[in-house]
Amino acid sequence: MVEKKEALVTEITPRSEDFSRWYTDVVRRAELADYTPVKGCMVIRPYGYAIWELMQAALDRRFKATGHVNAYFPLFIPESLLRKEAAHVEGFAPQVAWVTEGGGEPLEERLVVRPTSEAMVGTMYAKWIQSWRDLPVLLNQWSNVVRWEKVTRPFLRTTEFLWQEGHTAHETEAEAQAETLQMLAVYKDFAETELAMPVIDGRKSESEKFAGAVRTYSIEALMGDCRALQAGTSHHLGQNFAKVFDVKFQARDKSLQYVWQTSWGVSTRLIGGLIMTHGDDSGLMLPPRVAPHQVVIVPIPRGNWQETVLPRARDIQAELEGVGVRVMLDDRDAHTPGWKYAEWELRGVPLRLEIGPKDIEKSQVVLVRRDTREKSPTPMVSLGDRVCEVLETIQASMLERARHFCEAHTFRAATYPEFRKLMAGRPGFVIAPWCEEDACEAQIKADTQATIRNIPENGDSTGQACVRCATPSKVEAYFAKAY
Ligand SMILES: [Zn+2]
Repeated sequence: MVEKKEALVTEITPRSEDFSRWYTDVVRRAELADYTPVKGCMVIRPYGYAIWELMQAALDRRFKATGHVNAYFPLFIPESLLRKEAAHVEGFAPQVAWVTEGGGEPLEERLVVRPTSEAMVGTMYAKWIQSWRDLPVLLNQWSNVVRWEKVTRPFLRTTEFLWQEGHTAHETEAEAQAETLQMLAVYKDFAETELAMPVIDGRKSESEKFAGAVRTYSIEALMGDCRALQAGTSHHLGQNFAKVFDVKFQARDKSLQYVWQTSWGVSTRLIGGLIMTHGDDSGLMLPPRVAPHQVVIVPIPRGNWQETVLPRARDIQAELEGVGVRVMLDDRDAHTPGWKYAEWELRGVPLRLEIGPKDIEKSQVVLVRRDTREKSPTPMVSLGDRVCEVLETIQASMLERARHFCEAHTFRAATYPEFRKLMAGRPGFVIAPWCEEDACEAQIKADTQATIRNIPENGDSTGQACVRCATPSKVEAYFAKAY
């Protein structure tokens, strides 16, 4: 049994040794996802899907609270619709999958498998929106999309992935802009509150914006290997799509106007972000709010434990479930407690509850935190309240730890030699003044592999010179090497 435990631990490559292998080891050993015979497509296994369902619920709640409703649009989009918006089709063309045949017959018009749904949504909005009274339209869709990828990694980049896409239409530019920023704030709140993943929110540079958008905003998180991960985007589409799809409405002054639109999305990529923000050499570490099992109960099998310990363990399970805690009772006979500890640590369960004959004598259990490994004997009296408190503490301290990591890996550079010296390694975020010229940004990328992640609203570049070209800077940008 001891050998089994050791064998289990060595199954994961240490994070410090090879982050990328550690990541795939965790994904597979924690049974989050698996490879399939379809190149670039993964199975999300039940444990991974349970995390996604918790994320979905937390997001959906926020979407509904801000007035949105869910709908569903088709998987296929006729080629002619996608071609209508030039920048949009140019951006997505290299990545789309085509359907050319159906029911054994060649199709008259090819269909694309949706890479995103702006074209379909625009077409339908043109039918549904006639008057200012029909506005705003605030829809969200939970769906899959397909973007053909050459190099794939589970959750981070796969050919097919799950996501949500919000699509809204408004009377005025100001309303659309407010919606774009509102959803960016929703994503930030979700990432930090639910995933304990601190993010930088800001505007994307022109070169990094969504194909067809006027402005794109993103949230960016820093992973454990100091690469940035784009964790969500919110786009102000202006009237670009409205004009090509002819989404017009009669305004309050009786004039005919084009609607102002937004779209916004997050995907199963967030599961990758969760793994890389919190995981350690022992495996996954889940924040309680998105942990399928928040507590695992491991009974200590001494003497006639099935008659003594197990019934108490079941009572505790019922008590905790009664106060809304998600509990797994690991009563499997075939494994030692030590094996179970390592297994549930690997799968990231935030809190372990050990109970044996001696604990029962003392009317206590032992709680062990996944994040700090701290062990605390805890009285059985009002255990439910205590467990809820500890889970909240874990949630908060995981966010705190991630925030501290992000701050410790955020630097400023005023000159190009300074910037290049930092970017020779993988520092994390580097904040630098920038002139907002595409060519300058491209040169920085060519020199250092770093890209502009985003430009936060509160940056102040007054009186500074662009970090590369030394012309007066316009903004302060967050640079990083990214996934
Ligand atoms: Zn410049």
